[in-house]
Amino acid sequence: MRFDIITLFPAIFDGYLTQGLLSKAIQRDLVEIHRHNLRDWAPPTPHRPVDDKPFGGGPGMLIQVEPTVRCVEAVEASLPGESNRVVLTPQGKRFDQPMAEDFANRDRLLLLCGRYEGFDQRVMDILQPQEVSIGDFVLNGGEVAAMVIIDAVIRLVPGVLGDEQSNIDDSFSRGNRLLEFPQYTRPREFRGHTVPDVLLGGDHAAIARWRAEQSRRRTLQRRRDLLGDPQNLEIDNLEIDLNQTKRNHPKSE
Ligand code: SAM
Repeated sequence: MRFDIITLFPAIFDGYLTQGLLSKAIQRDLVEIHRHNLRDWAPPTPHRPVDDKPFGGGPGMLIQVEPTVRCVEAVEASLPGESNRVVLTPQGKRFDQPMAEDFANRDRLLLLCGRYEGFDQRVMDILQPQEVSIGDFVLNGGEVAAMVIIDAVIRLVPGVLGDEQSNIDDSFSRGNRLLEFPQYTRPREFRGHTVPDVLLGGDHAAIARWRAEQSRRRTLQRRRDLLGDPQNLEIDNLEIDLNQTKRNHPKSE
């Protein structure tokens, strides 16, 4: 999968590209990341400006339509196939796991990172990108948002994770779209906190049942909105069970 990032600050990605799973995926030719400096498409004056004051007044500067459209067109002209344009903006559709899965099915993604007060509206009108937000807060620029998207998407590119099952069981993922069950590793006991017996018994069917129930229980407590139709998930029973647990063990989940 190939990502093209259009940014005024390409160096922000330096550390990110050389660490962890992403750097391994790049080395193994599973993922390509190409950065394009928007300033290279600015008029050839000494300061190479790409921003200007908003018409009608107001604070801050806007990224201009002309260098942005020229940059996108030049990048796309050099590549075959559909580029799947994405503009990072707090005004876009909220990024989530299904969107990450959708992006992971594409061959390419073109990520446009805003700065200042964002892009001139005509960037959206002309390029018709998908507008994507990573949450209801305002960042200084789209670069961190682009990294968030890349990070979530590359986990889903076949071969990037050692074990493909993990991105099925992960929270919000295709397995059940719920929060993941609690996990434990060695030691078996620490300061009186022990690993649940079921995980030590080697009964894989029992472990799967326990994990499914823990996943629903945790989701009910923390993210009820993810559960959908309560009847399908037998939530009523689970809720009764949880109330019972709270009465018996006030500090437990
Ligand atoms: N004036 C804009 C508004 O109110 O919608 C905010 C501009 S913000 C300071 C500058 C850039 O950061 C945006 O153009 C966008 O690329 C990026 N950005 C900020 N918050 C973001 C978010 N929640 N999701 C994605 N990108 C974001």
